[in-house]
Amino acid sequence: MSNLKGEVRAEIDGLASKLIEISRWIYDHPELKFEEHQASRWLADALREGGFEVEPGVAGMETAILASHPAVSPGPIVAVLGEYDALPGLGHACGHNLIAGAALGTCLGLAQLKARLPGRLVFLGTPAEEGGGGKVKMVEAGLFDDVDAAMMFHPSFRTRVCQGSLAITELELEFQGKAAHASGSPEMGINALDAVIQTFNGINALRQHIKDGARIHGVITDGGSQPNIVPEHAAALFYVRAPEDEYRDELIQKLRRCAEGAALATGATLSWRKVGHEYKAMRPNRRLAQAFQANLESLGEPVGKPTDRLGSTDMGDVSQVVPAIHPYIAICEGEVALHSREFAKASGSPRGFEVMIKAAQAMAMTAVDIFTDEGLFQEIEQEFQAG
Ligand SMILES: [Zn+2]
Repeated sequence: MSNLKGEVRAEIDGLASKLIEISRWIYDHPELKFEEHQASRWLADALREGGFEVEPGVAGMETAILASHPAVSPGPIVAVLGEYDALPGLGHACGHNLIAGAALGTCLGLAQLKARLPGRLVFLGTPAEEGGGGKVKMVEAGLFDDVDAAMMFHPSFRTRVCQGSLAITELELEFQGKAAHASGSPEMGINALDAVIQTFNGINALRQHIKDGARIHGVITDGGSQPNIVPEHAAALFYVRAPEDEYRDELIQKLRRCAEGAALATGATLSWRKVGHEYKAMRPNRRLAQAFQANLESLGEPVGKPTDRLGSTDMGDVSQVVPAIHPYIAICEGEVALHSREFAKASGSPRGFEVMIKAAQAMAMTAVDIFTDEGLFQEIEQEFQAG
């Protein structure tokens, strides 16, 4: 088995310049959610060349990819996930170009050995992680129904493997008031902006009494037009996040009461709806994470303890239907926030590409574990079933 791992490492080392080239193309041509046409085409072409059967446009998304390497004998189905969307104005400030390159490397490397491995290897190109929920649509389309384990890697400023993520819901609140001259006849107006401000104040009062790790954060998207008109319409967008789906839902109700209270106090009418994306909390498979960690450490990458500084990802939805991991590997020194210009720079740096290759190798070695170690496969499965 260790021999196979050594071989796949060498295969991926041999592919390094090609993987870096594709990742750099993606980096240099950032495409926003659902518009990742070039990135998905480059990846699909490379997978086809590597012997994969490629089906683009799955789950109703033009830029999604399902690529499958034919099985030589029955065994587990392992999915490796690649993201490739960028952020508006910031380019690849979340390093998804490295995620794509690593997933491609894992798949192309393993394909070279596949004749000697049971089971099936699947590459899933997952669009629009940044607020579009590509993986949610892929789960709904049944693309994970046959999958036994799913993995991806995410660049970060620290390395941690068995890491969760927060459930998230995006909500839009709108208040309808009544316009009037703000100085001449203010008593005839109903101030929708005050209702929004009152909602924020209510939420800020709530903060002391919510569980650690939850997050409620919003922006005002409409606060009226000019000071001499009582704002007749105002709106805000909120993200509500929590470590568990159930607590996130409880917080949504609390936020709703803050908004209803604000409507009652000001006389404005509240309307509210879920918009954009809603992701489930990540439930990392500990046994799978252990296997990945051992492989990553064998490549000389020190792994830190999981932290409670969490974001949200649509990989959470995947982890609810199949055993899954979403490990992070450091691509820079010191604390560099994701979604910053500094992180965008790191995502195109030599260190970033070096980590991408290492991530590809660690995922490939973990796939070898799953394909060849029946005991491990059963433990992963049992843990998932136990919930
Ligand atoms: Zn990301």
